[in-house]
Amino acid sequence: MATTKTTLSFQAEVAQLLHLVTHSLYSNKEIFLRELVSNASDACDKLRFEALDNPALYEDQPTLEVRVSFDKAARTLTIADNGIGMSRQEAIDHLGTIAKSGTKDFMGKLSGDQKADAQLIGQFGVGFYSGFIVADRITVESRRAGLPAAEGVRWISSGAGDFEVETITREQRGTSVILHLREDADEFLNAWKLKQIIGKYSDHISLPILMEKEEWKEGEDNKGGAMVPTGEWEAVNKASALWTRPRKDITDEQYIEFYKSISHDHEPPLAWSHNRVEGSTEYTQLLYIPGTAPYDLWNRDKKAGVKLYVKRVFIMDDAEALLPGYLRFVKGVIDSADLPLNVSRELLQESRDVRAIRDGCTKRVLSMLEDLARKDAAPADAAAEGVTDAVDKTEAAAPSDSGKYARFYAEFGAVLKEGLGEDFANRERLAKLLRFASTTSDSVSVSFADYKARMKEGQEAIYYITADTLAAARNSPQLEVFKKKGIEVLLMTDRVDEWALNYLHDFDGTPLQSVAKGAVDLGKLQDEAEKKAAEEAAESFKPVLAKLKEALKDKAEDVRATTRLVDSPACLVVQEHGMSTQLARMLKQAGQKAPESKPVLEVNPEHPLVKKLDGSVHFHDLANILFDQALLAEGGLPDDPAAYVKRVNALLV
Ligand code: ADP
Ligand code: MG
Repeated sequence: MATTKTTLSFQAEVAQLLHLVTHSLYSNKEIFLRELVSNASDACDKLRFEALDNPALYEDQPTLEVRVSFDKAARTLTIADNGIGMSRQEAIDHLGTIAKSGTKDFMGKLSGDQKADAQLIGQFGVGFYSGFIVADRITVESRRAGLPAAEGVRWISSGAGDFEVETITREQRGTSVILHLREDADEFLNAWKLKQIIGKYSDHISLPILMEKEEWKEGEDNKGGAMVPTGEWEAVNKASALWTRPRKDITDEQYIEFYKSISHDHEPPLAWSHNRVEGSTEYTQLLYIPGTAPYDLWNRDKKAGVKLYVKRVFIMDDAEALLPGYLRFVKGVIDSADLPLNVSRELLQESRDVRAIRDGCTKRVLSMLEDLARKDAAPADAAAEGVTDAVDKTEAAAPSDSGKYARFYAEFGAVLKEGLGEDFANRERLAKLLRFASTTSDSVSVSFADYKARMKEGQEAIYYITADTLAAARNSPQLEVFKKKGIEVLLMTDRVDEWALNYLHDFDGTPLQSVAKGAVDLGKLQDEAEKKAAEEAAESFKPVLAKLKEALKDKAEDVRATTRLVDSPACLVVQEHGMSTQLARMLKQAGQKAPESKPVLEVNPEHPLVKKLDGSVHFHDLANILFDQALLAEGGLPDDPAAYVKRVNALLV
C-alpha cells in the first residue's frame, strides 16, 4: 500500500454539509482561520498529553507551535502545526466523515443568520470544513507523531463529493493545512489582515502562533516597493493561557472572546468569575454563565462544559466530575496544580481534590446566580445609585445588568431545578433561586420569598399547581376556591417540577402544598361558618356520594364532597402522598410504568349538574360524564373517549 493513491467519497452527510457551509457562510469568511488554528492547537494539546507517557513522541522538537504563512504567487495560505498529526487512516476517518452524530441537527439549525451559523460550525465539530469557504482546494499533509517519515499522508479535496489520499514521505511531524484560495479570497494573502484575525479569535491560545516577519523593500529604480518576508518568525498572539494572567490585565473583550471560543456561543456570556483559589487544594477557576442554551442541553448524556487543565496542560474537555449535572450549562476552565497529569476520568471521580474543586465551583456558580438575581430584583435602585454616584463606573453600568437573571432563567431554570434532587447540601440556596409564574403574575418571576411576603393572614402553606401548560394550570378547577379567596397559587409547568418538588417540602419553614393533592385544607383561611355549612352540605349529600362511589368504583378511588370548587361540578385529586395524575400521564407517555393508582373524584354539591344527580334516571351516565369531564379539564383523556361522546350525545338528544 506504500504510495497508493486512492480516491474516496465523502460520507453523504459531509458532502451535504460542505455545500451548506460554503454557501451560507461566505459573508463571514474569516472564521475559517479560527477553526483551523483551533484544530492545530488541539493537535498540540493532544501531543503534549500523549507525551506525558511517551516523551519520545517529541522527537527532536519539544517546542510546540503553529505557523501561519502564505504565498501570494501560488495563492496559498498554510496553517502548519507540529502537534500529534494524523496517520493515513486517521486522515480518512477524521477528514472524510463526521464522527459526531449532530450533523442533521446542525443542518436543521442553520438559520440564515450568518453570524449565528458560523458559531454553530464549531459547536458541531465540523470546523475543518470551513476551510472550503475560502478555498476551492485543500491539501493536508501530515505525519503522526511516532510514525516513521515514510508513513506520512497527503489528503486533497476540492470540497465536492470526494477526496484523494496518498502515502508520502514527510520528515516533519504534525500537520500542514494548505488552502488554495478562491478568486474572491485575496484579502487573506495579507499579513496584516491575518494578524488581525488571529488577534481577534486566537489571542488566548496558549501556544505561540508564528508568522514570518516582513519588511518593506523599495522596488528597482524606486518604482514602487513591496513587503517581503525576512525569514524570521515572530509570535503574533500573546500565547499565555488567558486564565493564568492576572485579572487586572484582562479586558472584558478578552474575557468575552475567550468565552466565545470555548463555548461556540455567538452571544456574550451573562456573567463570569475568575479566581485563584488557595488553601488545601489550589486551582484557578474561570467560569461563565451563558445566555443561550446549546442545542443539546436536554441530551441526558450531555457533558459539563468545563475544561480541565493541570498546570496549564490540557487534560480533558467536558470534565463532568468538576461540576454537578444540574450546572452542566456552565462553561469554563479549571486549572489545578494538585492533580496528577495522568489523571483519568475514573480517577477524577474518586479524588478528594476534585471533590474540593467541585464544591468550590458549585458555590461560585450559585453566588454568580444570586448576584444576577439580586441585580434583576432591584434594577431601579441600581440605576438610581448610578446617577447619584457618578464616580463609581460599575454602578453606573448596572442597569444593563437587569433582566439578565430572567434571561438566564428562561434558558436554564428547568435544569437548575434538577439540583433540588441532586445537591442536598445546596438545596436551600437553590430554592431561593427558583422562579415561577403565579395566579397574580404572568411572567416567570415569582420567588418563594416573594410569595411568602404576599401570603394572606392565616395562610399556612405555599400553594402550587403543576400542569402541562400555563393555560391549563391557570384554568384548572382546583384553583377556583383560591381565586375566590384571593390566595396566590404558584403555577408550575416545567416537566421537571413535579419530580423536583418531591425533594422540597418547605421553604423557610413554610410547607409547600399542591392544590391537587389530598383534601383541601385552607386552615385558618376558612371561617367557622363556612366550615360548618360545608359539613352540613356534605352530610345531606352522603346518599348521593355513596351512589356515585358505586357507579364509579372502577375509575375512582373515592368520591367526596369538596369546598375547593366554585364554578366547576367536579375535579380529580390524588391522595396526599400519591403521584399526580399529570406525572403519571407523563410517565405513561414516555413508555414507563406509573403506579396504577386511581384518583379521587371531588364533587361540588352546590353545582346545578351535581344537584340534578339525585333521583335522575340518567344517574349512571351523568356520573361517568362527571368523571370524564374532570379528567378532560386537567388535560387527560377518558379511557374510552367514544363511550364518553355517546353518553354526552344521548343526553343532548
Ligand atoms: P473538531 O475539531 O471539533 O473535532 P474539525 O472538523 O475541526 O472538528 O476536525 C475534525 C478532526 O480532524 C479533528 O477532530 C481531528 O481529529 C482532525 N484534525 C483536524 N485538524 C487537525 C490537525 N491540525 N492535526 C491533527 N488532527 C486534525
Ligand atoms: Mg475543530
